Amino acid sequence: MPRSLNELSNRAARGFDSRFAVVRRALAATARAVAARAFPTCCTLCGDACDEALLCAPCMNALPPLPPACPRCALPSPGAAVCGACLRRPPRVAATLAAHVYAFPLDRLVQALKYGRRLALAVPLGDALAAAVLRAPAGTRRPELIVPMPLAGARQRERGFNQAIEIARVVGRRTCIPLAHALARPVERAAQAGLRWSERRRNVRGAFSATREIASRHVAIVDDVMTTGATIDAAAVALLAAGAARVDAWVVARALPPGSR
Ligand SMILES: [Zn+2]
Ligand SMILES: [Zn+2]
Repeated sequence: MPRSLNELSNRAARGFDSRFAVVRRALAATARAVAARAFPTCCTLCGDACDEALLCAPCMNALPPLPPACPRCALPSPGAAVCGACLRRPPRVAATLAAHVYAFPLDRLVQALKYGRRLALAVPLGDALAAAVLRAPAGTRRPELIVPMPLAGARQRERGFNQAIEIARVVGRRTCIPLAHALARPVERAAQAGLRWSERRRNVRGAFSATREIASRHVAIVDDVMTTGATIDAAAVALLAAGAARVDAWVVARALPPGSR
């Protein structure tokens, strides 16, 4: 029973808010359906008509799956056991979740997003990552915050956007986990893509700084592709130094080392 007029009016306000949220969601869904009918889009991969997501369901379902993988680094490992490399030298991230292998045709989608500026592709790529997160077995520890992988300032100015932030927004919406822009990348280094795998760790060491305190929080760094894991590990070092209790990595795709495919 409400004890006071104040409590009664708070309850009424909460009821109004939730009814308002339902109406707002219904209106947004209707607007999307009308827009999809008025401006039909074509699947980026097969060209068939599809909804506003830019990737039809069959193409989404055919993206290259990740075989059973090491839970620390997401590289293929029999029985999904922790791999020898992670046993010898545990990475800073406690767990890595990769939705797919970085292979055709997913590589084309990521490149079209990053270099072709097809920003809308962040939606199906974010959906793919969110689906993998939501498929995680019951009991999997759920991060409290999502931290998008930052781009160095100059690179973001040149590109005009950061694909990791665009993907992280979608994942945050789908999983109801808030985003925290907790990392900065003040130092411009050589692009990782131009370096040998062995040089990448040295190139990103000390490249990140934490921009806010995240004491005792369990966070997930979100990025589009994990190649060697060196960049995400360097970012995890900065977050752990800022007090994070645990850092996981969530990536749309895991690149496999040369010659392993
Ligand atoms: Zn398609
Ligand atoms: Zn491993």
